[in-house]
Amino acid sequence: MREPGRLSIYLCGPTVYGPPHLGHGRATLVYDILRRYLEWSGIEVRLVSNITDIDDKIIDRAEREGREWSDITTKCENIWFRAMEGIDVLRPTDVPHATEWVDEMVDMISTLESSGAAYATSDGVYLSVESVEGYGLLAHQSLDEMMAGGGDREVLGASEKRHPADFALWKFAKPGEPAWESPWGAGRPGWHSECVVMSLGLLGDGFDLHCGGQDLRFPHHENERAQAVALGREFARHWMHNGFVVDAEGEKMSKSLGNVSNLLDLINVSNLLDLIEVYDPRAYRMVLLQSHYRSPVGISADGLEAAGRSLAGLDSFISRTASLEDVDADAATLDAFRVAMDDDLDTPKAMALLFDTMRQANTALDEGDDATAARLVSAVKVICGAVGLRLVEPEDVPVEVLAQAAALDAARSAKDYEAADAIRAELQNAGWQVETTRDGTTVRR
Ligand SMILES: [Zn+2]
Repeated sequence: MREPGRLSIYLCGPTVYGPPHLGHGRATLVYDILRRYLEWSGIEVRLVSNITDIDDKIIDRAEREGREWSDITTKCENIWFRAMEGIDVLRPTDVPHATEWVDEMVDMISTLESSGAAYATSDGVYLSVESVEGYGLLAHQSLDEMMAGGGDREVLGASEKRHPADFALWKFAKPGEPAWESPWGAGRPGWHSECVVMSLGLLGDGFDLHCGGQDLRFPHHENERAQAVALGREFARHWMHNGFVVDAEGEKMSKSLGNVSNLLDLINVSNLLDLIEVYDPRAYRMVLLQSHYRSPVGISADGLEAAGRSLAGLDSFISRTASLEDVDADAATLDAFRVAMDDDLDTPKAMALLFDTMRQANTALDEGDDATAARLVSAVKVICGAVGLRLVEPEDVPVEVLAQAAALDAARSAKDYEAADAIRAELQNAGWQVETTRDGTTVRR
């Protein structure tokens, strides 16, 4: 750590041009789990995660739909944070917008040009990767290999580039496109320049950790790092990359999964039209906790439902044991939890421990050993808190509200959806969040 007890993290945030997909959900959840665990361990975390609110994809959509680009970005950003709230992801401590940092980006590109690391072409300003010592270190590829590879990097202006891997720091605007003034002409920053300027600008040289999805390792993160190196600045000391979200066949999946086409389908946005296919909004976090962050994770309806059942089991365990004394958590269990989490965030082991602790507590209860059970129950609650698993304690819900939830289920079984909707609306108007899954309706504040 750069400063003892304090950790600085940069997480590449969304480009706001559409609804968040499952891959976005994984990245935000993985680092939310990390952040919560670190904070639980007593470390002060500063988590910067940007909003890319100017990008080719945004401009393309604005043109296609004949809308203002800022209308798209504002709406998509609102949806993004609603989705994050829906899956209990804490808001980052800092949310810089790329468009607020354009002056600093222009300054940085000017510095790179003065030192000879960057050059202008007819369509923009590029970084010369050959001027960067150790380019390709993060991607584990040499420049020669990249030459041979080709990949999907931009071909725009390729003939004027000094090296195929050179990338745009600044892109000149075509007529009608959003543009900012610069010494080279009106245009907009390249994506890789946005993140390096905002991360160094807010967190300073040698910040602790840069993270994001595996798909960002190359070229995005490599190119961020290349600019910092070319500036002679110390960039992130550590990197963390989470694995892909894959479908049943193991293919990378960012958009569709049967009925789940994006992250919004995983949360309960009071889904009145499609009552059957609503998952517990905590289920995705549970699925991810039960997988290692570096491994690809398969998301399926069955997996989400199984996670929902585990969570319901946890909830009812907590409510069943509510009468036990509130005591300090079992120290050995918490030690084992720390050992697992400190070992490259071994959350599958931590979750195995959680459910094992639950079983031990039940055994202790069966044996009449309430003192042991109480310590174990406290440990379960502490672990859930440390990884951001919210427990729903049914005893907080008044009996008459539970009766209404039961009436709602009865109406649904009788296919009287009108009555079910009426009860749902009544509960929601009274301030309750109502979730209906195949296992029935649950109600919480
Ligand atoms: Zn980034």
